[in-house]
Amino acid sequence: MRFMIENDVPVTPVIVITSLNYEDVIATVRFFHQQGINQIMVNRYNMGGEGLNHRYLPTTASQLRDVFKQLDNYAEKHTINIYSGVCTPYCLLNPVDYPHIRFGACSNDVYKRPLTFDLDGNLRLCNHSPVAVGNIFKQSLSEIFTNPYLAEWEDLNMAFCKNCLCLAKCKGGCRAASEQMDYSLKNEDPIIRTLNISPLKYSNEKSIV
Ligand code: SF4
Ligand code: SF4
Repeated sequence: MRFMIENDVPVTPVIVITSLNYEDVIATVRFFHQQGINQIMVNRYNMGGEGLNHRYLPTTASQLRDVFKQLDNYAEKHTINIYSGVCTPYCLLNPVDYPHIRFGACSNDVYKRPLTFDLDGNLRLCNHSPVAVGNIFKQSLSEIFTNPYLAEWEDLNMAFCKNCLCLAKCKGGCRAASEQMDYSLKNEDPIIRTLNISPLKYSNEKSIV
């Protein structure tokens, strides 16, 4: 990273916040910042892949909120861009509580999604999703993007999120995480169940960014 910084190559380190490192996140951000890095991505732990064998890795909700509060304070006082890249249910991390951190969102526009390809041409709608929606060596993109599976992503009819005013933006968190846990796109983000989170209740829409 030092070599890249010295040669004016932009560097954005990623910190995945887990039960093992959550107490060290701010010190790590400070370290990167002192090296001259001013863009850092901080992601909550998103269960999937090999991580399914390490179910102790997510923090508690209050640990994660504490870390984000510290990060928000740091971003307020320093010239640094801190992003939260893994979309997180607003009932776990509500962006209004962390105004100096930028939160990513899952787009309905397929061309704004983190489309992920493997060497065999299989295409997934996000690097977190285990489902191949098509294959670019065998199909055109326009053919792939008419797959009915895409419409399932737009269907936000999830029992847990019924009546939540944040639904249009939050979309129930990361449903690729649901796929990773063998649930369907009809399920809200499994971190909600893991951390025993209650749905959000708002008195008005001003509490939603
Ligand atoms: S209830 Fe659903 S839509 Fe509302 S904040 Fe929680 S996960 Fe998001
Ligand atoms: S699938 Fe999950 S990680 Fe990927 S963009 Fe959507 S919410 Fe974010």
